[in-house]
Amino acid sequence: MGSCLFCDIAAGKIPCTQVHSDEKFLAFRDIDPKAPTHILVIPRRHIAGLTELENSDSGLAGELILTAAAIAAEEGLAEAGYRFVINSGSDGGQTVGHLHLHILGGRRLEWPPG
Ligand code: AMP
Ligand code: ZN
Repeated sequence: MGSCLFCDIAAGKIPCTQVHSDEKFLAFRDIDPKAPTHILVIPRRHIAGLTELENSDSGLAGELILTAAAIAAEEGLAEAGYRFVINSGSDGGQTVGHLHLHILGGRRLEWPPG
């Protein structure tokens, strides 16, 4: 495996604005926010994306959503609402090959996405 930006962030080699850290997940603010609140939640373990998830990752995948929902609540987004996004592959708009969930909130989000 070559170098991975989000593995380097998880390892502390590249700085981030950390929002949450535990043994399995790290959350930090997106460097180019698309909404007033834009947080990325990543598993510390390198998983390239949704396509690479295995059945044995079901617990991790569930905990990713629960962790992100808790962060959204801590950020004060629960009442007004927010959106989770996981981009996958080129058509999905994935640009970093390490699974990450976007938490977007703080403004009215349009639907459908462009
Ligand atoms: P995606 O396009 O779904 O792969 O999302 C990748 C996200 O990572 C984009 O929203 C970028 O703005 C964000 N990003 C890229 N580099 C960094 C970084 N060093 N720190 C924080 N966010 C980053
Ligand atoms: Zn990685």
